[in-house]
Amino acid sequence: MTTISTNENVKAASTALLRTEPDRNCPLCPRLADFREAARTREPEWFNSPVPSFGDSDARLLIVGLAPGMQGANRTGRPFTGDFAGDLLYATLLEYGFAKGSYKARPDDGLTLIDCRIGNAVRCVPPQNKPLPAEINTCRPFLSATIETMPKLRAIVALGRVAHESTVKALKLRSAAAPFAHGAIHQAGRVMLYDSYHCSRYNTNTGVLTPQMFRDVFAKVRTDLGR
Ligand code: SF4
Repeated sequence: MTTISTNENVKAASTALLRTEPDRNCPLCPRLADFREAARTREPEWFNSPVPSFGDSDARLLIVGLAPGMQGANRTGRPFTGDFAGDLLYATLLEYGFAKGSYKARPDDGLTLIDCRIGNAVRCVPPQNKPLPAEINTCRPFLSATIETMPKLRAIVALGRVAHESTVKALKLRSAAAPFAHGAIHQAGRVMLYDSYHCSRYNTNTGVLTPQMFRDVFAKVRTDLGR
């Protein structure tokens, strides 16, 4: 196992000179690198690498998820593609004009995003979908660089509390001044941060998030951005 201290990890990622995408073999989170290697051995046909953002950097909207799902983005290589969360997310983006084409849960389905980009707070698949706080911190420079290299960015939708908190730090907001709540909106200069519960199967099956609650967030973003 690679042994690098957390501080060294953060420093190394911070000096990545606004690199928005990590190396395929990014070693900065040893636990996740080991997990990734195990997945490569078990499923050699899968993507099994840090998942890059999807969509153009000149988009006005950025959606920030938690991390790749094992059977979803980690398998297919495109955020939210191939698992339940993607079904609701892409259907909603199509409904509100942030995507065109048809979503078929494959990266070669031809779906394109319109004025929208999708990324994750943590780029590598974590065990049980739960990255550790140190891993979230270590991967944040890639999120910060993604935000900083989107010159037209006006809106960020954070999916879930972890994505919200990492985005708040990337935007240099005070956490106490921008608490997570579904439907909450926070201002960070020219960028508005919209909070939503994560569109996971668990949240929708338990009624924490209904499709209408999710649609309401994107309806508000669409109204605020205009066409
Ligand atoms: S989660 Fe981010 S920082 Fe950590 S190993 Fe993956 S790409 Fe590197």
